[in-house]
Amino acid sequence: MKTILTGDRPTGKLHLGHYVGSLRERVKLQNSGEYDKIFIMIADAQALTDHADNPAAVRENIFNVALDYLSVELDPAKSTIFIQSQIPALFELTAYYMNLVTVSRLERNPTVKNEIAQKNFETSIPAGFLCYPISQAADITAFDANVVPVGEDQAPMLEQAREIVRKMNEIYGEVLIEPNIYLSSNETCRRLPGIDGKAKMSKTLGNCIYLSDDSKTISAKVREMYTDPLHIKVTDPGHIEGNVVFTYLDAFCEDKATVAEMKEHYQRGGLGDVKVKKFLLEVLEEILTPIRARRAEYENNPDEVMKILKTGTEIANEKAAEVLNRVKRAMKINYFE
Ligand code: ATP
Ligand code: MG
Repeated sequence: MKTILTGDRPTGKLHLGHYVGSLRERVKLQNSGEYDKIFIMIADAQALTDHADNPAAVRENIFNVALDYLSVELDPAKSTIFIQSQIPALFELTAYYMNLVTVSRLERNPTVKNEIAQKNFETSIPAGFLCYPISQAADITAFDANVVPVGEDQAPMLEQAREIVRKMNEIYGEVLIEPNIYLSSNETCRRLPGIDGKAKMSKTLGNCIYLSDDSKTISAKVREMYTDPLHIKVTDPGHIEGNVVFTYLDAFCEDKATVAEMKEHYQRGGLGDVKVKKFLLEVLEEILTPIRARRAEYENNPDEVMKILKTGTEIANEKAAEVLNRVKRAMKINYFE
């Protein structure tokens, strides 16, 4: 069996980092026909670990993320799209896994460490936030997933999930399936930088181009994109390292020969930023125009979107309950069976 589980936090609309890091890969895998089951989770419970004071925003973003999914052609006939908080088995599994993970192991998780610094949690880290890698292990294992398509920032989560699986299997017998990370083959896509040149395009950092941005917004964002501060006159030789316009061309432009030629010209001098940005804008518009059109269709059909989520959640619940029963049996806590 080949099963996929992946998802996103409903903390905002999805952006180009999500698109190249995970969404585009998911759609490819979905349409490859090689997977028996595909589960796509809107991680609202995880979003609440650092947005507990704003459940209304999380609620609104569930709908936004669902629209983003449908507009990039995740197909509900092939992929089960569901809402995390509505699957009780996930929380039971999390509780049992928590006994197998130390607090210091959680504190060492580099992505969590990074996020704690970013959010200025310092000494007031919500316990739920610190433990979200454990709940992520529950999300993955509850569906017997062996393939998890995500961005590079998720590698430490996958490592921790694998540790939990090994420990569970060691103590209770072979009960869980060990998951594997699935990263984009295009290295640039594994962690797309923000338009400000910062290491990661992220909702939290506010340096994003959203899949739902209109043409005017995108054009303005491309215009303000970070390039090479040393490239002042058009004739100056330019640098492409750390120049996000070229990074984005690597991530989005299929015509690799043209990109290579432009890079060469830019480094030699004589190619202006305005020209390169104009080309990037065309490349982005070609990708985003059909996505925008599909989004508009679903936006006018909120009942259909909610029905897709409800049906997906029912299917997900069935599978997760089955796995939870298997785990409880293995743990010998199935007293009334
Ligand atoms: P938040 O700031 O709320 O954590 P986020 O932008 O990090 O939001 P998530 O919902 O945490 O988004 O991530 C969803 C998926 O998208 C994950 O698989 C993650 O690895 C991937 N992803 C997010 N940002 C990027 C990026 N800049 N490049 C590549 N993949 C990304
Ligand atoms: Mg994140």
